[in-house]
Order: sequence, then structure tokens, then C-alpha cells
Amino acid sequence: MTPSPSTVQVAVHTPSHSGVGDLLDYASERPLAPGTLVRVPLGPREVLGVVWEGASAPPPPGRALRPVAAVLNGIAPLDAPWRRLVAFAARYYQRSLGEIALAALPPQLRDLGPEQLARRLRRPAQESEPAFATFLIALSAEQESARTEILSKPGPFLLFGSTGSGKTEVYLRCVQAVLEQDANAQALVMVPEINLTPQLEERFTARFGAGAVVSLHSGMTNPQRLKAWLAAHSGQARIVLGTRMAVFASLPGLKLIVVDEEHDPSYKQQEGARYSARDLAVWRGREQGAKVILGSATPSLESWHASRPPTPDDPEGGRYQRLLMPSRIGAGELPRVRRVDMNHQPRRTVFSAPLLAALQERVERGEQSMILLNRRGYAPVLHCADCGWKSDCPHCSAHQVFHKLDRTLRCHHCGFTVRVPRACPGCGSPDIVPIGRGTEQLEEQLGELLAAVRRPDGSPVRIARIDADTTRAKGALESQLAQVHAGEVDVLVGTQMIAKGHDFRRITLVAAVQPDGALFSSDFRAPERLFALLHQAAGRAGRDAAYLAAQGTRCEMWVQSFHPQHAVFEALRTHDYPAFAAQQLKEREEAAMPPFAFQALVRADARTQAVAQGFLAAASSAAHAHGLPGLDQVSLYPPVPLTIQRVANVERAQMLLESGSRTALQRFLAHWQPVLQATRGQPEHKGLVRWLVDVDPLTI
Ligand code: ADP
Ligand code: ZN
Ligand code: ZN
Repeated sequence: MTPSPSTVQVAVHTPSHSGVGDLLDYASERPLAPGTLVRVPLGPREVLGVVWEGASAPPPPGRALRPVAAVLNGIAPLDAPWRRLVAFAARYYQRSLGEIALAALPPQLRDLGPEQLARRLRRPAQESEPAFATFLIALSAEQESARTEILSKPGPFLLFGSTGSGKTEVYLRCVQAVLEQDANAQALVMVPEINLTPQLEERFTARFGAGAVVSLHSGMTNPQRLKAWLAAHSGQARIVLGTRMAVFASLPGLKLIVVDEEHDPSYKQQEGARYSARDLAVWRGREQGAKVILGSATPSLESWHASRPPTPDDPEGGRYQRLLMPSRIGAGELPRVRRVDMNHQPRRTVFSAPLLAALQERVERGEQSMILLNRRGYAPVLHCADCGWKSDCPHCSAHQVFHKLDRTLRCHHCGFTVRVPRACPGCGSPDIVPIGRGTEQLEEQLGELLAAVRRPDGSPVRIARIDADTTRAKGALESQLAQVHAGEVDVLVGTQMIAKGHDFRRITLVAAVQPDGALFSSDFRAPERLFALLHQAAGRAGRDAAYLAAQGTRCEMWVQSFHPQHAVFEALRTHDYPAFAAQQLKEREEAAMPPFAFQALVRADARTQAVAQGFLAAASSAAHAHGLPGLDQVSLYPPVPLTIQRVANVERAQMLLESGSRTALQRFLAHWQPVLQATRGQPEHKGLVRWLVDVDPLTI
């Protein structure tokens, strides 16, 4: 007798707005446990899927279900907490369940057939228990108290520790304690950028042994990712280090999550499903009973507010516990902040005389300096003084950036590249000049300005540049950073890439030569972000107190500005994040902005701005016409063009949604999704290319 087939519901990757439901029904010879990985037919293809509910009801009469093609038997089903995380993320960020589930799995799992996979799984995994170091450096009193609190209280914790206060050491100790307590426990440690993983990986493998630690980030090859993912999923890897994508790793024994530099915008995915890995980490930790540590010297205002201590007016306080580590290890001091008022400098000054003198001094003493400018290329635009021609990108509402080294004009938005013209394309004048400056130009000018300066051994100064242009090749960034660590560079010029997280030991001067751009941005988060960037950059200096003492040097952070008295620089000078945060939060509260309100954006891309805005306006009217639930507590603002309104010949518009209640906003979005889809189908919106929802957007 053949057993009657059962129906299984399978999550597959259907495009989020395709109108196909989240889960598809298939027939299976035998019931399959939820979380089982399967291959199923979808249209003409066969794709990877995850069994969601193992409902064993017979297929509905008159409907022949396609059968499951194969079951990936070698891999244990994904557990219920993982499936709940995926389901929550899909719901919260308005995506399909299948999209999130499949994107969370290593790409090779999708591509390999069951036989190939079985072969892969037969390769013996080297079992290796973490080796717990018995000799450990003594923790500072602040570190010790943070560790004790974390291990004895439920959290989530915001570890507010100065740059160089030894936060990483606290993470290491907490991971160790959690793993020692439970032989199946696992820890997830996240960092914002791939370029921070090698140094962290080194510290964790030095402490726990290479076999216990795996990494998960987009810089790995697909076979590497599959291997690491399987090690985490099987419980064999005890520690997973990774970037935002690692928040979706399958970790059956998860007991601790660390989100280092939790303020960093890179935790927010900016395409596809626009999730916040930090926020999901907090959700996952609570749901799965894992402790969560968010660490930063410049916390996001959201996390700072969420960790406010109780007061008589606010007896509850925030839902996070705030832990303080104000002191640098080894009594190292934070750099002295020196502001140069550029109003008193000759016009077009790039390096003011006092900054140049300070740089020269550092080089002569054999110390390292770092120059920060958040713009790559030689100059942001070429200009003809005769006819006013500018190097505009023909496909975007943006300039093409002048790159002098390879004589190109490149659009940083769409990638369109042309050779630099010999004469003005408008009037033929040979007199076209670069306006403004980027890192390439800084590097060139510094080379000229410091040409005569000698290092202690009499050799000339060595200048290096690190930005997205110099680090395109695989491994380039690692080798460039290694040169800085090895002391083979005297002055490092770079973009924000160099400002974050690195434990440079011999940098004694950091300078931001032109930070004013962000002061008057229309984005309400711009001051917060600028402060974080400059404070983090300053934190790269003076990290080794013994070195400073031996050199007899004080470390310095220089800021050149036309608005040196601005509140951001004032707060930077006093290293007073709490005061800065208090002032910013007060403004946010008065203006009913996050974290005192909740936002979502709907964006529309179309052939014309009218179509993009028309679609948004129609979807907004439809929401009102239907009187959708939650709408009474949600404000819908009129559609507006994006700051860079056209990219690659596509016009972009967006509409802001705001609510004092996260629940109301979520309820409204859930009901609005089908309305948006229906609106898209209407003939008058034919030129619409795509639309998307961004919940808790980081840039407005
Ligand atoms: P953070 O992550 O807060 O910026 P790190 O954890 O990188 O700081 O620590 C800064 C430096 O101080 C590192 O080189 C680290 O090895 C060292 N360090 C941390 N804790 C201690 C300690 N208790 N005793 C001595 N050195 C320490
Ligand atoms: Zn011209
Ligand atoms: Zn372009």
C-alpha cells in the first residue's frame, strides 16, 4: 500500500511584489519537518525552498500539486527560533517570507544539487573545542564591572565605552564565560564593515583557537560561506564573527550577541530587504533567550535613549541597561581637539599653516598622522570659467567626479565614465579647472607640501591613501592597513574607511580638513553622524599610552572649519557625547522625530518624475479612501523628489510616513501593501520601474 502523499508549505524566493503568496504548496511522499531544506519545481526551474508548516492535510480535491523534487537530508532542519526571526523580519520590513529566508541562506545552497551537497557534507569537519586561555590580562575596574553586570543581568546592554576603553576585551570575556557555562552555547559577534573583521578574527582565534571561530561576510567566496554557515548551523562553530548578514545565521545554541559599533549606518541594509541588523539582533536575543551587548563610543541616539536610566519623572527608564567605560586603557588620554577657523586663512587653503606645521613635526618625530576627507577622487567637478560648463553626468542629476590618476570623469552614482576632455565640450576653451577637492588631490598636495620634510632617519616622508579607489582589488585593503600597522606609512589620507574601529598604535594626530559639508544637510541625522565619524576618527589617535609617554607626545585631533563654534565641534572638543546626545534628543523630541516617532519611506522609481510622484500620490489617496487601519495615527507626507533625483536615467521620488506609534505604523503598512500593489497595476502608472518600502529609514 502506498502512503497517501501529504501537502507541505514551502517558502521559496518569489520576488517580493510578484503577487505570488509567501508560501507555496507541494506534495510530499512523507511528512517533512518544518525547517527542512528541499528542492522544488517553480515554473520551469527547480529551486531551493524551506518547508514552513509541515501540514499533512491531503491536497485539495481537483488540484494536482507538484511534488517536492528532493530533500536535503544531510542538513538538519532550520529550527523554530530561526524561522520566527525570518518571519518577523519579513513582516516588519514588508518583504516576502521566502525572500528573507532564501537570502539568509548561503548562495551555494541554492546552486548545488543534492548529490554535490552530499559530497560536500561528507568531507570531515574538523571538530575542535574552543581552547580557553587560562592566562588572561587583568581587566580594568571598569571592564570588570561591565563584565559582571552583563553576566548577571538580563540586558540588553548598551556598553558605552570610550574609544580604546577595551570594549573588545569585555566582549571576549563575556563570550568566554557564556561558552564555558554551556558546552553547546554559541556567540554571534557583529562588526559594521568587512575591513574590521580580519583584526577581530585574529583576536578571537588567538583567544579561542581557529576551529571554534568562523566568519560570515560578503567578502568570502561561496564555498567559504557555505562551510562557515554549515559549521554554525551544526553547532560545531562556537563563535560566528560577521557583518550585518550574520544576524540571520542559523545558530541553534545562540546565547550571546555582540553588536560592535552599534551606531554604524552599515548595519542597515540599503537594498532589497532594508533591515537593520542591530534591531533584529535585539529582537532575536530577546526571542531566543540570548544576551545582547550593543557597544559604542558614540551610540545611536535610538540606543542612547533606549538605555536612559530611570528618573523620578520617568521611573521606568529605557528598556536597555547602560554600562559605562569612560577611561582609556593604560590611562591614555583622548586627543586634544584643535580647531582652525578657516575664515582667517587665505582663500582656497587646503592645509592651514598650523596644521601643516603640526604634521611636519609628527613626521620628524617618526609618528603617524591621519587625514580624513570623506570624498574620493581628485575633485568633485570640472568647470569651464568661460562658458560655465560643468562635468555633469548625462544619466544622473549629479556631477562626474574628476579622477586625475587615470584621467577620467566618473559618476559615483551610475558608474558612467569618460576620458577627461582636452578642451571644454561647451566652448572649446582649454581652460577647464577642477573645483573642490577629494582624497587624490589631498595626497598630491601633501606630497608637495611635505617634500622637504625628513623622518628621524633622514629619509623622505611616506604618504599613503586608502579609499574605495585604492582598495578595489581583493586583499588590497588588508595589505594597505598592514603597512600602516607596520609603521611603513607616515601620513595616511583616506575616507571614512580609515576612521572606524582600527586599533592603530602609533597615530598621534588626526585631522578632518573639510568636515563642514555635513553641518547644514537637510537630513536630521547629519549632525549625529558627523559627530560619530569625527569622534571615532579622533579615537584612532593615542591608543597606546606607553608609546605616547615614550615619545613625550600629546595626541591631537584637528578640525578645519568655517564654523568652528558649531555645537558638533564644541561637543567634539569636550569629548562629551552625553551632552551632545542630550541636546540632540531634546531637538528630536520637540520636533517629534525618531526616537520619539517612527518613520517609513515609500520610494518610487520611474521614467519620469511625474509618474513616480503620481504613483505615490495615488497610493496615498487610496489609503485614505479605504480608511485603512492605523491611518488615524499615521501621517502621510506629500511625495517629493530625492536629493539626487535622477540616477542612471531613472527618476526617483519618495513619500514619508510618520507615527507616534510603531504598532500603528506597522498595522497601516501591512494593510497598505496590497493597495500599493493594486495601484501599481493601474494603467496610468505604466512608466513605474519599481517601488519599495523602507521601514525605520536611516536617510531621509
Ligand atoms: P575598544 O574596542 O574599546 O576601542 P580595545 O578593546 O581595542 O578597545 O582595546 C584597546 C587596546 O587596549 C587593545 O590593544 C587591547 O589589547 C588593550 N587592552 C584592552 N583591555 C586591556 C587590559 N585590561 N589591560 C591591558 N590592555 C588592554
Ligand atoms: Zn566652456
Ligand atoms: Zn551617473
